[in-house]
Amino acid sequence: MMALNRILHSRRARELWLPLGGRCGMLRRAESRLGGTLTILTYHRVLPDEQAAVYPFDSLAVPLSAFRQQIAWLKQRTVLPLGQAMRDLAARCREVPLFSITFDDGYIDNYELAAPVIEAAGLNATFFITAGIVEQGQTLWFDRAVVAATAAGLSDPVAWVRSLKSLSPESREQRIEELRSAVEDTPRGLMMTPEHVRQLAVRGHEIGSHTMRHPILTHLVPEQLAAELVESRARLQQWSAQPVEGFCYPNGDTNEQVIAACRDAGYTYACTTRPGRNQLPLDPFALRRVQVDPRRVTRAGRHDHLAFHADLCLAEAL
Ligand SMILES: [Zn+2]
Repeated sequence: MMALNRILHSRRARELWLPLGGRCGMLRRAESRLGGTLTILTYHRVLPDEQAAVYPFDSLAVPLSAFRQQIAWLKQRTVLPLGQAMRDLAARCREVPLFSITFDDGYIDNYELAAPVIEAAGLNATFFITAGIVEQGQTLWFDRAVVAATAAGLSDPVAWVRSLKSLSPESREQRIEELRSAVEDTPRGLMMTPEHVRQLAVRGHEIGSHTMRHPILTHLVPEQLAAELVESRARLQQWSAQPVEGFCYPNGDTNEQVIAACRDAGYTYACTTRPGRNQLPLDPFALRRVQVDPRRVTRAGRHDHLAFHADLCLAEAL
């Protein structure tokens, strides 16, 4: 497994090995051994190809043409909303590998571009929504920060945004505001509205919570932590008219206190950013996922079938 791990992490080794692995049927054999497992795909944004190519967070925006091909591949498999997939896995009622499609944050492109492709394939997904940001028609801090940094002419806007991650929300806002006051540029309209969330639910998708304001939960005091979990769940249940069971930790950060607060707030499962697949016995508050990273699964902006297949079917090696 170590050798495979090295291959999957080295771009050059992947390029040499994957066509061979594909031709020899190794990927198909790997997939045939995945019965009784659940692979959860993570998406953030799906953008028209030309926009995805220039999106500053280059691991997060999948080009629409590649997304269409990824969904065509998934259409041949068993894909369920995550809550349902976990129930089926626990009941051991399916022999086949299970897949779930998840989206983090609540971007409008998920509704406008991704959901129609998923629905046309007869599938449904799970959307983890940042409820407070959506409710107030705001923009997530990292999107505001990267636009301000770019407009202010910083040499590496993404590195600057990364350097803000560990700050408290207050000092982070102060830094962004200092930069923003020099330029008049705040992106708007990036996120869904509550009505979009409602419509996704009506169309059979699962709605999950991604907090109110996307804080790092391990930095919060207990009252703030409970408020982020309880209020977001209440809003999303109201908008979707569905019980909201699922949660997704912002930035993947969690600990025992956060997990206990999730249970107290009424969630039955939570997703991390830890790579890999899931199998029984399942820890429902430490679900692993496979991020669909366009740097790995596209080549020059186009879908790379073998790389996508390998990332999903060899996920335990990631
Ligand atoms: Zn997020």
